[in-house]
Amino acid sequence: MHTPETTKRHSVFYDYQVFPFNRPPEMEGEGTRHPVAIVGAGPVGMVLALLLAKSGLASVIFEAESQVSEGSRAVAFTRRSQEILQLAGAIEPFVQNGLAWDTGRSFYKGREIYKMVIPHDDNDRYKPVLNNSQQYWEEYLYDACEREPLVDLRWQTKFVSFEERDDGVTITLDTPEGEYNLDANWLVASDGGRSAVRRFMGLRMDGIGFEGKFVITDFRAKGMNLPTERRAFFDPPWLMGNTVLVHRQPNDIWRFDYRVPDGEEPSHTLAPDTIAERTKLIMGLIDRDVEWELDWATIYSANTKTLDHYRHGRVMFAGDAAHLLPVFGVRGANTGLQDAENLAWKLGLVEGKGASPALLDSYSDERVMAAREICEEAGKSTRLMDPPSRGFRVMRKVVLSFSLSENFCKDLLNWRTSRPHEYLESSVNAPGDDNSQFEGGYPDGTCARNVKLAEDRYLFDMFGFRFQLLVFVGDEADSAAASRALATMRHRDLVNVVAIGGSFDGADHTVTEGTEAVRDRYGVAGSGLYLLRPDMHVAGRWTTMDLASADANIDRILAIGGHK
Ligand SMILES: Cc1cc2nc3c(=O)[nH]c(=O)nc-3n(C[C@H](O)[C@H](O)[C@H](O)COP(=O)(O)OP(=O)(O)OC[C@H]3O[C@@H](n4cnc5c(N)ncnc54)[C@H](O)[C@@H]3O)c2cc1C
Repeated sequence: MHTPETTKRHSVFYDYQVFPFNRPPEMEGEGTRHPVAIVGAGPVGMVLALLLAKSGLASVIFEAESQVSEGSRAVAFTRRSQEILQLAGAIEPFVQNGLAWDTGRSFYKGREIYKMVIPHDDNDRYKPVLNNSQQYWEEYLYDACEREPLVDLRWQTKFVSFEERDDGVTITLDTPEGEYNLDANWLVASDGGRSAVRRFMGLRMDGIGFEGKFVITDFRAKGMNLPTERRAFFDPPWLMGNTVLVHRQPNDIWRFDYRVPDGEEPSHTLAPDTIAERTKLIMGLIDRDVEWELDWATIYSANTKTLDHYRHGRVMFAGDAAHLLPVFGVRGANTGLQDAENLAWKLGLVEGKGASPALLDSYSDERVMAAREICEEAGKSTRLMDPPSRGFRVMRKVVLSFSLSENFCKDLLNWRTSRPHEYLESSVNAPGDDNSQFEGGYPDGTCARNVKLAEDRYLFDMFGFRFQLLVFVGDEADSAAASRALATMRHRDLVNVVAIGGSFDGADHTVTEGTEAVRDRYGVAGSGLYLLRPDMHVAGRWTTMDLASADANIDRILAIGGHK
């Protein structure tokens, strides 16, 4: 019998809610077959369910615990994640309560050696990064799931095992009132780094597990009076070879991350006296001496690991269940949200619109490639934070010493933050379109960018979780041709049509202000067409308003790989 902890978790600032177990219809012999079953109500599972709902698809989520997660964990959400949350209909509390930032500073021997400002401009509705603790992120997503009738989230319900058939899976779940079985067409494992689904299937991740251990301490301190930035301190005098990270969160909560000295016992690292001593030393680094109260402390190590495939028949993996990424560069949850977005539109088409299940293989191909690229990149920053050998320790020392006087090596100190992957070779991209004829804009496979149209009005506000057809109208003849082409589109129900530079009958939205800014950003002077996937990556683009080609390409996407 599954008996999760139902005593409220301790926190000096967060009031945990214990969610009850509710007996499901399956335990009364009334269960129906579910289109999608999701294991794990972390950020990835909940965003997936919300986006599936935007595609009209119902899902059921099983969460083993009775409360949202503990500690700040995925403290920083990127702009791309915020755009995904906007599509999921959940963004408001994130922006209202999070702290936005764009600057990272690195210090060595008491001097600032590198300042990173993440590029952004007026065209972006959201700031590059938003900080808050993961408890809040999960609470906001849970509230959104509660409002969504197509999401059925079941607390205190633990995945145990499943059996796969040709047309679906039967899942066994354990609860405080015993086990039950549930049938679903698809099973998504978003049950975190220790994924029970992954272990049940005997799958192993490939990659590197770094030996170094880091501590996170979350504490409340009033009067710190520092801007919202990410600060990194290399080689603090009291512990050479160490690195300290400082992050600010709302509610006067601060987070210090630092490397644990080699060979130190966890019981010593997490002992109140050790934490107090090191917190005092870090306060010295940032020139502060204020009262503080510990909220949460834990030890973690960095990994760059991924499964080789995220689709195994009727089972898909997403988020930490699929890959483990170091925290440097805010990659964990942000990468997982991009998995969720990619999988949601494809599952929506397969389950709801009769697309070939093989389309889901492109989810695996695209996201495994993204994870590999991130592992490669994140591996470099992890080696700088936590040099794994004498050679890397020497290299780090040289880079840091030179960076006091030379500019050329400062970029080595910059770990790039999470960003959308470019699916340049994806099978989803339109073969034979006019991609190569464009001089600017967004090439096939890349993620389109937002454009400010007027005060508090942005291009992405017109988008829904469907394909977007951005129709650039050259002249009046174009308008007439566009309405005729639209009237005969086979996949009209799958697209959101945005008219730019002119209007025509049948368009869902017309850009009336900021037209030149859209043309400029998308590299279209006269007439032209972009077909964006629901996750806003470019599926194809044409230098004429070739709606028939866009339609044919949606056809092709629905049939990718035949019926597997
Ligand atoms: C100590 C720590 C520090 C971190 N720091 C950062 C950071 O600074 N920046 C960053 O970007 N990321 C950080 N992360 C990673 C980040 O928290 C994850 O990337 C993110 O939470 C992934 O979301 P997810 O939904 O894939 O998995 P999770 O958030 O892990 O959610 C998985 C869910 O599945 C549930 N579950 C597990 N097993 C079962 C089962 N058998 N049945 C039903 N439910 C189950 C779990 O209870 C959990 O709610 C950190 C993680 C840890 C552990």
